[in-house]
Amino acid sequence: MSEPALRILKDVFGYDAFRGNQARIIERVASGGDALVLMPTGGGKSLCYQVPALLRPGVAVVVSPLIALMDDQVATLLELGVSATALNSTMTGEQQRSVAAQLERGEIKLLYLAPERLVQPRMLDFLKRLPIALFAIDEAHCVSQWGHDFRPEYMQLGQLAEHFPGVPRLALTATADSRTREEMASRLHLEEAERFLSSFDRPNIFYRIVPKEAPRKQLLAFLAERRGDAGIVYCMSRKKVEEVAEQLSNQGFPALPYHAGLPNDVRAANQKRFLNEEGLIMVATIAFGMGIDKPNVRFVAHLDLPKSLEAYYQETGRAGRDGLPADAWMAYGLQDVLLLRQMMQNSEGDERHKRIERHKLEAMLALCEETRCRRQVLLAYFDEHLPQPCGHCDNCIDTVETWDATEPARQALSAIYRSGQRYGVGHLVDILLGRETEKIVSLGHQRLAVFGLGKARGEDEWRTLFRQLVARGLAEVDVDGYGGLRLTESCRPLLRGEVRIELRRDPKPQRGRGASSGSSASAASQLVRADEREQWEVLRTLRRKLAEEHSVPPYVIFPDATLLEMLRSQPRSLDEMSRVSGVGARKLERYGQAFLDALNDGGAAPAPVADVRHEVLTLVRAGMTPEQAARQLNCSEKNVYALLAEAIAQQQIALEQALDLPEELLAEIQDAFLEDEGELPPVAQIAPRFEGRVTSGALYCVRAALQAELAD
Ligand code: ADP
Ligand code: ZN
Repeated sequence: MSEPALRILKDVFGYDAFRGNQARIIERVASGGDALVLMPTGGGKSLCYQVPALLRPGVAVVVSPLIALMDDQVATLLELGVSATALNSTMTGEQQRSVAAQLERGEIKLLYLAPERLVQPRMLDFLKRLPIALFAIDEAHCVSQWGHDFRPEYMQLGQLAEHFPGVPRLALTATADSRTREEMASRLHLEEAERFLSSFDRPNIFYRIVPKEAPRKQLLAFLAERRGDAGIVYCMSRKKVEEVAEQLSNQGFPALPYHAGLPNDVRAANQKRFLNEEGLIMVATIAFGMGIDKPNVRFVAHLDLPKSLEAYYQETGRAGRDGLPADAWMAYGLQDVLLLRQMMQNSEGDERHKRIERHKLEAMLALCEETRCRRQVLLAYFDEHLPQPCGHCDNCIDTVETWDATEPARQALSAIYRSGQRYGVGHLVDILLGRETEKIVSLGHQRLAVFGLGKARGEDEWRTLFRQLVARGLAEVDVDGYGGLRLTESCRPLLRGEVRIELRRDPKPQRGRGASSGSSASAASQLVRADEREQWEVLRTLRRKLAEEHSVPPYVIFPDATLLEMLRSQPRSLDEMSRVSGVGARKLERYGQAFLDALNDGGAAPAPVADVRHEVLTLVRAGMTPEQAARQLNCSEKNVYALLAEAIAQQQIALEQALDLPEELLAEIQDAFLEDEGELPPVAQIAPRFEGRVTSGALYCVRAALQAELAD
C-alpha cells in the first residue's frame, strides 16, 4: 500500500490499517481507474473515496441520494478537519454562491450533491471548469429499476463518462444481488471498472427468528434486555407503527413513529432525533430506510415479515454498522404469510413480475422455518458459501428440534381437501379438534372423516403446522376467493405416502401464565461489562455535551468503537490517546485532553444502586441463581431479590429467567395471588402458606411479574 494513503488513514482518520478491499480500491481510484465497489453496510465504503479524494488534486464530487445522509458525512469530515460541503436545495442563493466561490478557489476537497442537481446543465458546466479529483456514486443500486430504492435521477449519471472522460469514477453499494450489479455497471457506464466484491456477511449481527405468539409482549421482552440501546422496530402498516410506538412509550421505552403518512416536518424531526439522541427506538415502516447512517443502531426488530431476503438483509443490515455486537430479531407467524401473499396477488404488474415476487417470498419463508444455520442460508441466497455454521445465530446456539410431521400433515391437508378447499385455518383447526361450533354444524362438517381426528394435539400445534405447510408451499391461500386454504400440486407425494416431512418444532411457549412470552434472549453480549458501565456513561456524557456544542450527532465526535477502546486501553497521556483507533490528529487536538480528564476523574465514585442492579441482572442472565449472585456481589439475598423484583416489574427481565421455580409451585403461587378479585394481596398475606418451600424474595418476584402482566 502506498505510504501517503496510510499516512492519511492514520493522521486524518486515526486508523492503523485498511480493512478488506479498501487498500486495493483506494490504489485503483487514486491512480485514475474506475471501480465498482460492493461492500456490506459497515464495511467501510466511505474511506474508499475519501482517501483518494485527499490523495488527488481537485475536488471529489460525491453523489448521494438523501440530504440527511450528506449532512452527516459532511459533519463527520469537518470534525476530522477535512474541508467538505454539501450543495442542496435547502440553502439560500447566497449560501450557494459562497460555496461556488470556495470551489473556484480550490478550498473544498469533497463536494456532496444530490444526483438531480449534479446533472443540471449549469452544474455540469460549472464543474467542467474545475479540477475534479473523482466522482463517487454512493448507494449506486438506486439506478436499478428492480430494487426498492429506485431513483430515476440516477439513470442520468451515465453521462458523467462523456462529460468527464479522464476523471475516475467509483460506484458503491451494499446491495448484493447480481442483477442489480449488472444494471449498475451498464447504466452508469462502468463496464470497464474493476470490480471489488466483498463478503456480505455481517459477522457482528446475531440473527433470531421466533414464532409469533403474543408479538407485542415478545417485543417488550426482547427490548427489556436492551434498555438504553438505539434500535429500529419495523412494522408493515402505518397504523401499527403508531400503536407500537405509543405502547413502547407507555412502557418507558423512548420510541418515535416514522412512516410515509406523517407530515414531512414530523418525519424529519423524528429522524433527526433518532440520529442525535442516544437510546431512541424508531418504530417504522420500510419508508424509514436509506439515509439511516446511524452507526450505533444496536438492534433491528421485525414485527412483520419482509417481502424478500433482499429486504430482510437490507433492513437487518442497518444494525451494527460500527462493527460492534448487534441483534436482528423477528417474530413471524401465519398471518404474515397470508397477508403478504394476498398483497402480492392484488399488486399491479405482469405475471412474470408476480412470479418473481412469489419466489422471493418463498425464500424468505424458508429462512424462517429453517433448522440449519441462518447465516449460511442467508448468504447462500446471495451466492456466498459459508463453510461452517456461524455459531452466532439462534439455530446455531439453541438446539433446534425437528419432528416427523408426516401423519399430522396428512391429516391437515385432508381437512383442507375434505371441507372443500375454501376455509381458513381457524375453521380447519376446529374440524381437526372435533369442535361442534355453529359453523361446523351448519356445514355438516362434523360428519367429515377427519372431524376430531386431531384431538391429540393442541390448537397451537395445529396452527403452527398449518403455518409450516403454507410456508413450504404444500398448501396455499386462495387469494381470489375468501382467503381459505387449498392444496397445491406439491402436496401430492406426501398424500400418496411417497415422502415424509420433517418440521421444525417451535420452542415451547414459556410456562406460567405466559409472563413474557420471550425466547428473545440473544447471544449478543452487552457492549460494556458491569464494572465498566460507570466510566462508559462518563465518556458518553462528555461526548453528548461536545456533540451538542458542535451541533452534530454524538457518533460524529467519536464512534462507540473508539469510546470503547478508550475505556479498555485507559490511555494516560495524549500520546497514548493518539494510539486509540479513531483518534486522528484533529480530534486529538480538539478532544484528547477532555476525554483523558474524564477517564482519570470518573472511576473512583462508589457504585450507585443502579449499577448494583445492572450487575445483578447481568449475573442472573448469565445463569446464576439469586443466591449465587448475592454471594458473588457480596450483598444480602434479600437485596438481590428486591432488585430482581424491581427489574421484573419494569420488564427488564422475565420471571422465568430470574427464578427457576418448579412449574407447579409457580402456578400455585400465582393462584394464591389471584385468589381474590381486584388488587393483588401483599406478599405477607400469602407467605405463611409457602413457609419453608420458597423464600419470600421469590414471592415478591412472582408478584411483580403478575403486576406487570396485569398492567399491560
Ligand atoms: P459503509 O458506508 O460501508 O456502511 P462506513 O464507511 O460508514 O461504512 O464505515 C463504517 C464504520 O467503520 C465507520 O465508523 C468507519 O469510521 C469505520 N471504519 C472504516 N474503515 C475503517 C478502518 N480501516 N479501520 C477502522 N475503522 C474503519
Ligand atoms: Zn448460525
